[in-house]
Amino acid sequence: MACSRYEYVKSYEQDDKILPNVWIVIRIDGKKFHKFANAHKFEKPNDENALNVMNAAGIAVMEEFRDIVLGYGQSDEYSFVFRKDTSAFKRRAAKLLSYVTSMFTSSYVLSWSQWMQRPLSYAPCFDGRIVLYPSDENLRDYLSWRQADVHVNNLYNTAFWKLVLESGLTNQQAEERLRGTFSSDKNELLFQEFGINYNTLPAMYRKGTILLRKRVVLDSQDEQEKGRQAIVPIHEDLIGNEFWKQHTEILGKYVPGKHVVNSLNKHLERQLAKQLEKQATIAEI
Ligand code: ATP
Ligand code: ATP
Ligand code: MG
Ligand code: MG
Repeated sequence: MACSRYEYVKSYEQDDKILPNVWIVIRIDGKKFHKFANAHKFEKPNDENALNVMNAAGIAVMEEFRDIVLGYGQSDEYSFVFRKDTSAFKRRAAKLLSYVTSMFTSSYVLSWSQWMQRPLSYAPCFDGRIVLYPSDENLRDYLSWRQADVHVNNLYNTAFWKLVLESGLTNQQAEERLRGTFSSDKNELLFQEFGINYNTLPAMYRKGTILLRKRVVLDSQDEQEKGRQAIVPIHEDLIGNEFWKQHTEILGKYVPGKHVVNSLNKHLERQLAKQLEKQATIAEI
């Protein structure tokens, strides 16, 4: 093809290929979601459906980019972990980051009305960053850091909003009451004053949401059943060793593990049903 005299400008583009053999983590975070949550009257401290919109968007990203082995979401953020040896988009950083961020954003908007009662009043946007981790230990520490963040924030927010909404304290009074307290103090306060055992609150609020690619088997009796591949949201502890022993496919050779669904809770059922519906539609085209 003939070159125009303008073509030379292409050489100004910089190579941003990510080095081989590192875990690629992309984290997106909502812009000013404090305001966005107020504008859309999110329940405090956790709006369950708003978290489900985030999870639906995270699932859509993992359906599209199949080299993502794990997603982790909490509050207005989601992290996605690409296989160490991915060659997606020739490992070009800008391509990976912008595709994931924009796919997440458009899917968030598309999923909104499936979970939320009120309409979107303005377009949300998300920032995105890429962080590279050379070792499995670094990757585990990264994910543990994000899950520890949920714990700290959620325990504080749960106590804060109980004091405001049920004890009638002002925001400032609640803040003063909690200043300098340890986790054990907040647990005690929740139990003594509000009769709440923090550990029995929904796991999605306490642990965040882990998305894993699994073969979903609906009937645990049938050993032969291969199941359908889907992205499964789970709310487990990922800081301890147990999680990594159970889901060996994440750090090892990537073969999706089996996920037997014994009791479908309403969210898991809806998130899975939507994926299977979509797979069926794609198969028809
Ligand atoms: P920035 O633009 O710097 O990220 P931000 O307002 O988004 O600012 P974050 O630290 O990202 O600040 O915090 C997100 C905020 O969004 C939370 O503090 C909370 O107020 C709100 N939020 C997000 N998800 C939910 C939810 N499911 N339920 C209730 N509030 C939520
Ligand atoms: P990549 O993912 O590498 O960007 P691409 O298929 O998007 O691949 P581009 O170089 O971005 O390739 O080219 C965009 C293509 O989209 C055009 O070649 C054309 O075929 C199609 N296209 C975009 N806008 C229009 C339009 N308004 N009308 C018709 N075709 C369009
Ligand atoms: Mg934010
Ligand atoms: Mg955030």
